Amino acid sequence: MATVLPLPITNYESVVEPDWCPGCGDFGVLKALKMAAGKLGIQPHELMVVSGIGCSSNLPGFIHACGVHSLHGRAVAVAEGIKLANHDLNVVITGGDGDGYGIGIGHFIHAMRRNIDITYVVMNNQIYGLTTGQASPTTMKEVRTKSTPRGNVETPINPLALAIVSGATYVARAFSGEPEHMSDMIAGGIRHRGFALVDTFSPCVTYNKVNTYPYFKQRVYKLEEEAGYDTGNVEKAMQRCFEWGDRIPLGLFYRDTQPIYEESEPALKETPLVKQSLSLKKEIFNELVQEMI
Ligand code: SF4
Repeated sequence: MATVLPLPITNYESVVEPDWCPGCGDFGVLKALKMAAGKLGIQPHELMVVSGIGCSSNLPGFIHACGVHSLHGRAVAVAEGIKLANHDLNVVITGGDGDGYGIGIGHFIHAMRRNIDITYVVMNNQIYGLTTGQASPTTMKEVRTKSTPRGNVETPINPLALAIVSGATYVARAFSGEPEHMSDMIAGGIRHRGFALVDTFSPCVTYNKVNTYPYFKQRVYKLEEEAGYDTGNVEKAMQRCFEWGDRIPLGLFYRDTQPIYEESEPALKETPLVKQSLSLKKEIFNELVQEMI
């Protein structure tokens, strides 16, 4: 195994300052992502950060790396295209719960069942922040928001359980209040070969007055500190996914080893698209012309 030379997080400092509200959980996620890249010795030009739309989706502008700020709910599709074109890039998607678990949920599910080697860091604040506080797919039942003034009646999505049943091979959760632990979860996801989801509790201090820093600080515990917890046991992992209340688990819930899409797809497994010739061989061109006339 090649020796990893860690890099300082100053390597990833952007000239653009984050415009998030003071105290927003997304600051912790940005720091953790830089720490993870530094721990793995990833140079800025080897890191591609892709986002959709939302407060958290502004993140690619706040880190010195390659980046794409794409369309609402389409970050996963763009990231898949980038990874299939160039397998050497470390592709990380960053975005919010509304963008990923609402508008983009179709792309999310299909990327997981393909087991593409990308890492998805979701800043899950359980609210739509950019549009000033409407209920999102992960808003808890009975919580009052601008769009649910009498309390949310919809059952929230369970992103970790959804990820496991959809085929994700690395499923973890972290909390912005603990960026060191979060950086380990993100670094593990980047290092993992296959689709990695790192769902993060990233409090929206402006619009979510329920799921706050103190709310999580009082409840979270780490799976790696639980004696005998086995990340390869899918039934136990699913049980932990549904644990919510006085105790809420953080850490690596589930990990599996499966073939990745890039190495299974015949058109890609020899060499990525960026290394393939775009020219058409003369005999194939002639065959196509014959078919059409
Ligand atoms: Fe963060 Fe919420 Fe402010 Fe958006 S509105 S920047 S999510 S605190």
